[in-house]
Amino acid sequence: MKQSNSNPNPNERGARGRGPDGSPHARAETVGDRMTPVRRRVLEILREAPRALGAYDVLERLKDEGRSAQPPTAYRALDFLVRNGLAHRVERLNAFVACGHPGTEHTPSFLICRGCDTVAEARIAARGGRLAKAAADTGFQIEKSAMEAVGLCSECRDGQ
Ligand SMILES: [Zn+2]
Ligand SMILES: [Zn+2]
Repeated sequence: MKQSNSNPNPNERGARGRGPDGSPHARAETVGDRMTPVRRRVLEILREAPRALGAYDVLERLKDEGRSAQPPTAYRALDFLVRNGLAHRVERLNAFVACGHPGTEHTPSFLICRGCDTVAEARIAARGGRLAKAAADTGFQIEKSAMEAVGLCSECRDGQ
């Protein structure tokens, strides 16, 4: 996904940005401090959704709620949530889900149902997996990894 940096928004603080008044206290900021109403709402939308949502699905919800949201608004909010571990991007679906267990170090692992498009996040520790071990054996340092499995959820299997 292409990020637009060409829309300077005075209210938008950069990833390593300063406080609202340029104060040097930015490093003490927590994610909660940077949760703008839009970011908070986008996270809620993801949590409420039964399946992964694309950026435009999120944008449509915001518009339905009367927010004058432009595509960069949705993209930036989603990017913020992903960067801070509150949501994940499901590459296969080019869509986003709220993280099922934020605040814990884990490898995002998704069970994607091809019948109903639901996405369940499995819990897999970030360290100790086979991939981590294989990487460690070769001196490779993993910075980011994700697992995506496609199949049928129990409900769709029952319905067959
Ligand atoms: Zn997660
Ligand atoms: Zn299903």
